[in-house]
Amino acid sequence: MSHSLVTMAYIAATILFIFSLSGLSKQETARRGNYYGMLGMAIAIVATALSGQVTSYGVLLGALVLGGAIGTRAALKVEMTQMPELVAIMHSLVGMAAVLVGYANFMDTSNPLIGVEKTIHEVEIYIGILIGAVTFSGSVIAFCKLSEKISGKPLLLPGRHWMNLVLLIAAVVFGGIFLQQTESGAGILPLAIMTAIALIFGVHMVMAIGGADMPVVVSMLNSYSGWAAAATGFMLSNDLLIVTGALVGSSGAILSYIMCRAMNRHFLSVIAGGFGTGAGGPEAVIEGEVQPIDAQETAQLLLDAKNIMIIPGYGMAVAQAQHTVNEITKLLREKGKKVGFGIHPVAGRMPGHMNVLLAEAKVPYDIVYEMDEINEDFHNVDVTIVIGANDIVNPSALDDPNSPIAGMPVLECWKGGTTIVLKRSMASGYAGVGNPLFVKENTRMLFGDANATMQAVLKELKG
Ligand code: NDP
Repeated sequence: MSHSLVTMAYIAATILFIFSLSGLSKQETARRGNYYGMLGMAIAIVATALSGQVTSYGVLLGALVLGGAIGTRAALKVEMTQMPELVAIMHSLVGMAAVLVGYANFMDTSNPLIGVEKTIHEVEIYIGILIGAVTFSGSVIAFCKLSEKISGKPLLLPGRHWMNLVLLIAAVVFGGIFLQQTESGAGILPLAIMTAIALIFGVHMVMAIGGADMPVVVSMLNSYSGWAAAATGFMLSNDLLIVTGALVGSSGAILSYIMCRAMNRHFLSVIAGGFGTGAGGPEAVIEGEVQPIDAQETAQLLLDAKNIMIIPGYGMAVAQAQHTVNEITKLLREKGKKVGFGIHPVAGRMPGHMNVLLAEAKVPYDIVYEMDEINEDFHNVDVTIVIGANDIVNPSALDDPNSPIAGMPVLECWKGGTTIVLKRSMASGYAGVGNPLFVKENTRMLFGDANATMQAVLKELKG
């Protein structure tokens, strides 16, 4: 394939990636966005394979088959609730690729460079490995936290900010030493020390972030993985990889900003860690009586209501209750009720988690509202059903300055008529915080697996 044809193919792929991102920003166009992305990636792979840079087609084919098989198997096997972990571990692979490409580039002596070109290439290698190693180890820890292999509680080492600063300064100093090496291969020691520093930094950074702030970590590592890919593109002199990496990196950064705003946090404070640990004072004790309700009473309340709001959370994903919820929604709407869905930006375990579930169940998009659209309207709502959500409807975020989630905007359902909370027990949510909503006078608890209880309610509604 001629050079200009490859360039044209790369431009076409870039445009498709941009279409893909803009498609993914709305539920109605998300599917199309995915197709654009897949087409763009297919063009990118074919163009790169035929660009004349490939030295062994056997190795390329082997890697394609192996990678494709692992990816297909993971995609087919993964449960919806495991998606956030899968995304985290995929980010770690991008980081690892950047590190490996960096070392391969460093060891490759086939094309010796001199002067400024050599320095620029070495800076690319150093930064590429640095970002890659932080992304790799940070994503592995995020994977462990999201899959609950390690606790979501923040690890707060004494003097942790100083430790971060020392690590940063050390990475810069070793960078200087690395660039000063003139003999071929002599820079391996500072490079290896910096890699170790970056790995430790990645682990420490994510370990220090509190449970409720994990959404920012997920989107931030998404952004880092993009920059790691862009760095790989620089090392390999591959324009498409640079552009694609920059697209992922910047869209991930915008997502991190949106998630921070959704949680009323400053990005830098989240990254510095220690958020999600409260203001130091004791958390308010939750006093009051829980008022349980059964499926029959729930159905009656729904039949008596005119305006109904449904707030889904992580528990709906665990119970896979979205299809039953959709059936109930259809039935209630047929009976002339106004039904809406209130989506908190950090509900579930990954950005957009609830929207994906509702789209899968074919809930109409026009009755799905964002938090800001409905928070003022709860006084008009007769019944709110909270399905497996906890942190996102916790009033102590607004009332208790010592709460680890203090300041985070929440869906203020208690301002409406009756709130029915579906969950299996009185256990806390991901942030590990008690929830006074459960003992409010106008709250009823419908205990059990959300799908089973929703099925029971559906039966009552039909009966
Ligand atoms: P929470 O984790 O706060 O609460 C989920 C609730 O669902 C639990 O209290 C649990 O209670 C209940 N539950 C679990 N399984 C079932 C089931 N089968 N049937 C019924 N209920 C069930 O989730 P939210 O969505 O309210 O909040 C999300 C939290 O996750 C926030 O703290 C957010 O910061 C964090 N997070 C979000 C990410 C994102 O990108 N969106 C990423 C990482 C973390 P019980 O055990 O009693 O049933």
